[in-house]
Amino acid sequence: MSDCLFCKMVAGEVPADVVYEDEEVLVFKDIAPKAEVHLLMIPKQHTESLDTLSEADDAVVARMMRKLPIIAQEQGLESGFRTIINTGAGGGQVVFHLHMHLLGGKNLPGFG
Ligand code: 5GP
Ligand code: ZN
Repeated sequence: MSDCLFCKMVAGEVPADVVYEDEEVLVFKDIAPKAEVHLLMIPKQHTESLDTLSEADDAVVARMMRKLPIIAQEQGLESGFRTIINTGAGGGQVVFHLHMHLLGGKNLPGFG
């Protein structure tokens, strides 16, 4: 997806403050943090949202879920963290490349 912001980050065309990277996954700091720690985890391969996942994505999604607590630990979030996935405009999604928000630490906003 040539016009996708997060794909451009994967390609190194747009700078990202990367905290973790492997063959399939990129994790970087959110540009407008809503809490002391606010990271975004994305699959490197473009898919729009949870709505566009297929069976072929099962492995990478499972891998992302399993990586989240490891990265949270590395960020010092021993007491826990919040994960948010916004799906579609009605779900508050603004960037249409699947991403998981990982939030924690001080200033974690209330939910609801
Ligand atoms: P969404 O509302 O789509 O779930 O979340 C998109 C997130 O991407 C927002 O939290 C927003 O702050 C973040 N974001 C938007 N543009 C950029 C950018 O250029 N760099 C980074 N690091 N984060 C961004
Ligand atoms: Zn993309």
